Amino acid sequence: MCGIVGVFGNPEAASLAALGMFAEQHRGQESCGMAVCDGKVIRLHKSMGLVKEVFTPEVLESLPGSIAIGHVRYPTKGSATAFNTQPHLVETLFGPSYALASNGDVVNYASVRAKLEAENVYFKSDNDGELLVKFIAWRIDQGDEPADAIRALMREIKGAYSCVFTTRRELYLFRDPLSMRPMVWGKTSNGTVVVASESCALDILQVNGRQEVPPAGINRVNKDGISLLENDPNLYRSRRHNSYCVFEHIYFSRPDSYHFGENVFAVREKIGELLAKDDEGLQADCVVPVPDSSNLMAVGYSAASGVPLSLGLIRNHYIGRTFIKPQQTIRDEGVYQKFNPLPNFYKGKKVVLVDDSIVRGTTIRQIVRMIKEAGAEEIHLRIGSPQVKFSCYFGIDTPHPEELAANRHSLEELRTWTGVDSLKHLSLTSLAQCLTKPEEYCYACFDGNYPLEME
Ligand code: SF4
Repeated sequence: MCGIVGVFGNPEAASLAALGMFAEQHRGQESCGMAVCDGKVIRLHKSMGLVKEVFTPEVLESLPGSIAIGHVRYPTKGSATAFNTQPHLVETLFGPSYALASNGDVVNYASVRAKLEAENVYFKSDNDGELLVKFIAWRIDQGDEPADAIRALMREIKGAYSCVFTTRRELYLFRDPLSMRPMVWGKTSNGTVVVASESCALDILQVNGRQEVPPAGINRVNKDGISLLENDPNLYRSRRHNSYCVFEHIYFSRPDSYHFGENVFAVREKIGELLAKDDEGLQADCVVPVPDSSNLMAVGYSAASGVPLSLGLIRNHYIGRTFIKPQQTIRDEGVYQKFNPLPNFYKGKKVVLVDDSIVRGTTIRQIVRMIKEAGAEEIHLRIGSPQVKFSCYFGIDTPHPEELAANRHSLEELRTWTGVDSLKHLSLTSLAQCLTKPEEYCYACFDGNYPLEME
């Protein structure tokens, strides 16, 4: 999971992009970068670290220009190094000419890279963002206009990609034919065009209105404004519908974002409501969310069941999300640094504990232990998604299938292993009921029905 931002038509483009990236920090905390163009030169700055650490006022001042693209990275394809950090810049005989930042993963990376290498295209990283920009640059070098180069990319490259691509004069926004990752854009009151992975980044920049980039959409932004170029997604896909990542609603996105035609917060509340409906007759004193992504699920559960909501777990917001740290050792230590139960709260209570998902299961197991040690009499664990049984290849770093808790334990084993009195997951049918257009989603990490063939 990563986040992208693009800004066109503002002399403070770098500062605006940094604000947008800051709003998307939850999508990636390992590294970040920005490419800024003043019409003549594209300057690049990228580094390991958080947005506020990397983009200091001094750095932003050194990035003049009215076009900016930015990226926050959580490593999936390619290791967590500065080399793999985006955006990626392409130099031609005329100097730095193109830059690109992407969210998603390419599933036929190896064969496309081999094809480009056979054409004497060289790579500095093993990151798929570099593959995308090198492909476009190669096609432009063959005589394509940028939009035709992007159409050629859609014919050749399979996977999830929401991208911002800049030349020295124009900004392009484009999205894969299945629209797997979110991508929204809008304009500020002074006409600045802003694009982002999530609408919460548009809100911070006071963007009026928002539109999603359509499947296989190519938006060109230049001095004449923004235009959507003709492109039929069905030319590039075998499925006749989108495959939005349903996990964006369950876990990844901020609840104040809107995409795939849904308010994220409303989907989460509905999930909580359906979990509660499956619990009629359960006697409980309180419902407690595992913050933050489960908060609104617990709100929905409480409203539907009448069980009082309690914010009984306090999260330290100054360390990363445990699930998105790349090494298990860091993850395990993080749980203890990250959560703390309220003191003198749990003694003798029957608790409904709500979490969004179980991936490896290590985090929830330790949280349950904490709450038990705090004196809870019963813990009933409710999970706002079906069991995760399959890995994701479209931009989310889920572990190998054999590491997933659902593949290591039966449901009853998982209940005893986590130490709870009862354990229930939201069913796939109930999850579909939370969505306006359930047929437009990818559920592959639950049912193994991948929308694309893997290479
Ligand atoms: S496999 Fe799961 S996480 Fe990956 S895109 Fe599909 S729904 Fe999202």
